[in-house]
Amino acid sequence: MPDIQDKRTASYPMVPIRDVVVFPAMMVPFVIGRDSSVKALEVALKADKKIYLATQKDASQDSPSSADIYEVGTVSNIVQSLKLPDGNIKVLVEGVQRARTVRVTGAAGYFRAEVEVEPVPVVSRAKMSLLTKRLNLLFEEFAKLNPNISYETIVQSTRKTTPERLADTVAANLPIVVEDKQVLLEIVDPAERMTKICESIEIEIEKIKMDRSVQGRVRRQMEKAQREYYLNEKVKAIQEELGRGDKDELEELKQKIEAASMPKDAKEKAMNEIRRLQHMPPMSAESTVSRTYVEWLVAMPWKKRSREIREIARAEKVLEADHYGLDKVKQRILEYLAVRQLTRKRSNGSILCFIGPPGVGKTSLGQSIARATGRKFVRLSLGGVRDEAEIRGHRRTYIGALPGQIIQMMKKAGTRNPLLLLDEIDKMSMDFRGDPSAALMEVLDPEHNNSFVDHYLDTEYDLSDVVFICTGNVRHSIPRPLQDRMEIIDISGYTEYEKLKIGRQFLLPKQLDRNGLKRKPLRFEDDAILELIRYYTRESGVRNLEREIGSICRKVAHKLVRSRKKIKLEDQVFDISPGKIQDYLGPHKFRNQMAAETNEVGLATGLAWTEAGGEVLLTEATTMKGKGDLLLTGKLGEVMQESAKAALSFIRSRSSEFSLLKDFHKILDMHVHVPEGAIPKDGPSAGITMATTIVSALTGIAVRRDVAMTGEITLRGKVLPIGGVKEKILAAHRAGIGTVILAKDNEKDLKEIPDSVLEKVKIVLVDTMDEVLDIALEKPIKRKSRQQRDEYMNDPQPPQLEGGEQAGVH
Ligand code: ADP
Repeated sequence: MPDIQDKRTASYPMVPIRDVVVFPAMMVPFVIGRDSSVKALEVALKADKKIYLATQKDASQDSPSSADIYEVGTVSNIVQSLKLPDGNIKVLVEGVQRARTVRVTGAAGYFRAEVEVEPVPVVSRAKMSLLTKRLNLLFEEFAKLNPNISYETIVQSTRKTTPERLADTVAANLPIVVEDKQVLLEIVDPAERMTKICESIEIEIEKIKMDRSVQGRVRRQMEKAQREYYLNEKVKAIQEELGRGDKDELEELKQKIEAASMPKDAKEKAMNEIRRLQHMPPMSAESTVSRTYVEWLVAMPWKKRSREIREIARAEKVLEADHYGLDKVKQRILEYLAVRQLTRKRSNGSILCFIGPPGVGKTSLGQSIARATGRKFVRLSLGGVRDEAEIRGHRRTYIGALPGQIIQMMKKAGTRNPLLLLDEIDKMSMDFRGDPSAALMEVLDPEHNNSFVDHYLDTEYDLSDVVFICTGNVRHSIPRPLQDRMEIIDISGYTEYEKLKIGRQFLLPKQLDRNGLKRKPLRFEDDAILELIRYYTRESGVRNLEREIGSICRKVAHKLVRSRKKIKLEDQVFDISPGKIQDYLGPHKFRNQMAAETNEVGLATGLAWTEAGGEVLLTEATTMKGKGDLLLTGKLGEVMQESAKAALSFIRSRSSEFSLLKDFHKILDMHVHVPEGAIPKDGPSAGITMATTIVSALTGIAVRRDVAMTGEITLRGKVLPIGGVKEKILAAHRAGIGTVILAKDNEKDLKEIPDSVLEKVKIVLVDTMDEVLDIALEKPIKRKSRQQRDEYMNDPQPPQLEGGEQAGVH
């Protein structure tokens, strides 16, 4: 056989092979079965064991023609052949050289191919070495990523070979399709072939990397899903173990919904939520939100009511039993209850509102009404509520949303007809988050409150069976529209005598009971209670009195328990007399002896009316050299400041008559101060007090400390009436004031003052400032006659101030 190295062409038996491309220098085992191929093999074996192997274009063809076979193949040596029992032959061949088919003949019953070897172009060594290096690196990386390829074995076997051999070996081992391998086989130029192989490897590396990252992502997702599934299963298992599977729980909720007798809309909402819950993982945040919502719906009292007591006589008894005095208030409450009963069906009952200082029994009256009518009692404090959502709830879209206070209170009451006490309605404020009073209006409106919609519940709730009672300290800070809805009942402070009665009959028994001293030998003298009222409290109501009584009771209880072992109980009598109070409560907290204090120049006693009831308010004035400035301090409101200016103008207009220092308004500065400077004060009722102080400061005549006054002043010196008379007189009484000056027009208010107070406090009704000064100043002002006044006015020389800063009389 001619050597193809020498000759350009040669002829060999040809075997068309399937699914494999044989590269030079590569060992390939395969099985030959087709007759023509067996024959070709036999011919070759008989000759020089050389055979031409070319790949079929379509592996499925059993008898391909020469056109169905690729034109480039490999001349190979047959290394081994083995006849198998089924007649097929297993052969092991080693590729020798790539060759191109020139012509194929099949006449002798097998393919014989005439092939030629194409000349290999010369490539510079440097280029080859570069390409070899790159190929090596890429292949190494590829082999590392691909566990099916043993890089070491392949590279070891090619280390000492030529670059061309290396390229063929790598090409043979690449996991690429037959068509691509055939392309590599057909490239004769080694440099070009190596470049193409490098590209193929790069593509394969990319593919593997992409595969891995996708795989990683898929795996992570799978892991997360699996983890959740696993945890959920576990939770289910735990719940089952505890005897309440998720299903059971939903079932339980459903039953509760059925049992709750909800209106149609609410029930539909609840059932919808249950349907949603069935498709949610039980521990997800969403499902918690849904469940909480359903639980709220279920927990609301839709139908349940307390049995109301309609007997007015019984209500009267309860009110009487719980509270001392307050006759008018009790009467109005009974009227209210009667009207409510008669107009029930028309539901146009108005809302009661108790207004008065702290501790006068507003809340406890509410409790009594609840008791008298057989309703549950719930209390909602509106102090500081500034957001509509606090009344009406947040929509469920907010995280952590809850129903508003009204619905929360209804749940707390557990019945649909409780008495809901809206406390501190005057302390509600309004800001950018919406106006809570608007929401409250809806709640209190009997025409609309049968379909109150809370933002959270999102379904109508009927409030028409609820009795609303509001309380507050002052009337003026309740929004007008709310006031119009309400029937306001004023409750004023108590007199000392009333406090004593309340203390003895109500507070003391309550505290004894509360502190476990009910049946114990404890004697509380009336004088001791009076001592508490006078020297340990200063209030309109009885809240602190109750606290102080409670405090003594606790101390007694402590003593009793400590000494129990030593002395027999029956022998122990605790006698609380006025003298012992200091032992229990320490020194007096207040001194109520205003009248006993010395009269001073520039210091007058006024009476103020605050949220906490009436109060005694001192007013100071002083003058100093200056240029006529009026300085007002003590956090005075605008009205009060104007009142001070009016007082001063009145005094200036009368300066000649009062024999004041001529042109005092030009050469003196005036400072009016109302102590307890941090507490804001306002209103016109301090007008006559400020005028009196200023006159006192200018004339140097002291003001009587046992006289208190309250009234507005006009520029002409008229005294006008003011409000809060009862509270103010009670405060004066508390402070030991003997005389109170009031405007004549306030006479009508005196009807409300208990006789016991009027016996102690003398009320003087006045019309003009002159009368005020006559009563309040220690000495009468030396008034000038008309002639003296004219002379004074015409005197060109202003008198000089003598010595000190205080301006005196001239
Ligand atoms: P308020 O709501 O007006 O601030 P509370 O209702 O809290 O006052 O009253 C404070 C305490 O004084 C309560 O224990 C209450 O029972 C008691 N109290 C107030 N007024 C009377 C009264 N007229 N008779 C009996 N107890 C009273």
